[in-house]
Amino acid sequence: MAIERTFSILKPDATKRNLTGKINALIEEAGLRIVAQKRIRMTREQAETFYAVHKERPFFGELVDFMISEPVVVQVLEGENAIARYRDVMGATNPANAAPGTIRKEYALNVGENSVHGSDAPETAAVEIAQFFSGNEIVG
Ligand code: ADP
Ligand code: MG
Repeated sequence: MAIERTFSILKPDATKRNLTGKINALIEEAGLRIVAQKRIRMTREQAETFYAVHKERPFFGELVDFMISEPVVVQVLEGENAIARYRDVMGATNPANAAPGTIRKEYALNVGENSVHGSDAPETAAVEIAQFFSGNEIVG
């Protein structure tokens, strides 16, 4: 199995409720290594670029407003099959559908304020990591 990297965000609802440590514990217990991490306040432009794939969706404006409402923690996670593994740890987008023990089941408030982002494919992981980290900030 290949060692991969994926991009993660601990979203505003998580930072606001002081849940970054608890979420990082679930990430690390799943065998993922946090190889880069920083706390930032996203700009509106960064959030719009990041979620550009959703710009025609009815929730786009609300999503961008949410992502800039509080600081976020952006991360690069590394491990075997990291992209799919992190999606498993995150749980379904809507916490009502998320499996027990997943981050979103434990902590998400609703389908929008759902505590975490994780890349969905190798191509998007590479683009998302490059949007927020330079190579020398990632220490594997
Ligand atoms: P995921 O984050 O699981 O990959 P999507 O890529 O489908 O989910 O959506 C991106 C983000 O947009 C979600 O994590 C959530 O914050 C928000 N979102 C998705 N669907 C809705 C919805 N129906 N209403 C409000 N916000 C939503
Ligand atoms: Mg997605």
